[in-house]
Amino acid sequence: MERIYLDNAATSFPKAPGTADAMFRFLTENGCNVNRSSYETAALAEDVVLDTRHLLCRLFHFPLPSHVIFTPGVTFSLNTILRGLLRPGGHCIVSGFEHNAVMRPLTSLGVSWSVAKLNPDGHFDNPESLFRPNTQLVVMTHASNVFGNVLPISEIAPLCRKNDVPLVLDCAQTAGHISLDWKKLDVDALCFPGHKGLLGPQGTGGMLLSPALAKELPPLIEGGTGSVSDRLETPDFMPDKFEAGTPNIPGLWGLHAAAEFLLQTGVDSIAAYESSLTQELIEGLAEIPGISVLKAPGMGQVGVVSVVFHRLDMAQAAWQLEQEFGIQTRCGIHCAPLAHQTMGTAPAGTVRFSVGYATTRKEINTALLAVKAIA
Ligand code: PLP
Repeated sequence: MERIYLDNAATSFPKAPGTADAMFRFLTENGCNVNRSSYETAALAEDVVLDTRHLLCRLFHFPLPSHVIFTPGVTFSLNTILRGLLRPGGHCIVSGFEHNAVMRPLTSLGVSWSVAKLNPDGHFDNPESLFRPNTQLVVMTHASNVFGNVLPISEIAPLCRKNDVPLVLDCAQTAGHISLDWKKLDVDALCFPGHKGLLGPQGTGGMLLSPALAKELPPLIEGGTGSVSDRLETPDFMPDKFEAGTPNIPGLWGLHAAAEFLLQTGVDSIAAYESSLTQELIEGLAEIPGISVLKAPGMGQVGVVSVVFHRLDMAQAAWQLEQEFGIQTRCGIHCAPLAHQTMGTAPAGTVRFSVGYATTRKEINTALLAVKAIA
């Protein structure tokens, strides 16, 4: 049975052409550390890592390569920012669609939060009323990892400026899937995974930081940076301030190849293709009796679609889709209990279908027939 991978929201597959080769080449022909030595292969390892920062600047229209910080992924990026900025007794504003990569740190940090609700027409409902004197941060997912709805960030960014509160955007489900422009988004931090829409390997990702936030934020971890090694203090210059320890160099070589592929292909053309597949999927699912397709409010939709089966447990449905048709999805709560609360799909959750650049129309049609057969 052919494998049909519809779990790209968890991590993308296949990765971009050239990604695995670049990692193999690094591990077999180079293998050096970066920022520690100046011999030829070490310099080459370092050049590729540096160039990856430049490629990401082009992808995100971000002006400062030194402020592209590499981390193991969005969870690490968000933890660095939340743990660095928030103090017990503080207050945050979040959306009703946050991932636990936001909600768990907020809970353990002992801060309170207000949820910025969306009206059925996709606009925030009076978000200005949520700002308080102790509001320390606004942190929001750009698109829900459960329902795929894109949040109207442009309605919140000016309020953050006006109230002098930093805005942190979780782009786990939008980076590489839709075009992102740092200047237009007007955020203070943009957290991105390397392993989802950017089509790179797991264990890569990062964050773009504004100079003001980079200055204010302390590092989450400290250690060797290969720079100012004679000092006991962590350097305060970028990107070293936030990149202690040996980075994931094979992963970054892979991410470099993936970013080159994205720039050559064009995120806009990937977005148009994924959007047409997603529309086909949603329209096809909507005609199938025995299921409901969940449509959450927002300004646009990425290729993530959630379905509730009326007569089947969600795990049973996902299991049958795989066993009988080779269709790989994700079921349950998707690490986002708040999103399910918001949409009334807790505690059973949903079955989530998520498309990628390599998904074909034939695969969508097979998935629709399979859902019809089991529903
Ligand atoms: N935020 C959202 C919306 C996500 O979908 C995910 C991953 O599923 C994360 C954060 C965590 O990302 P990472 O796996 O890169 O740590």
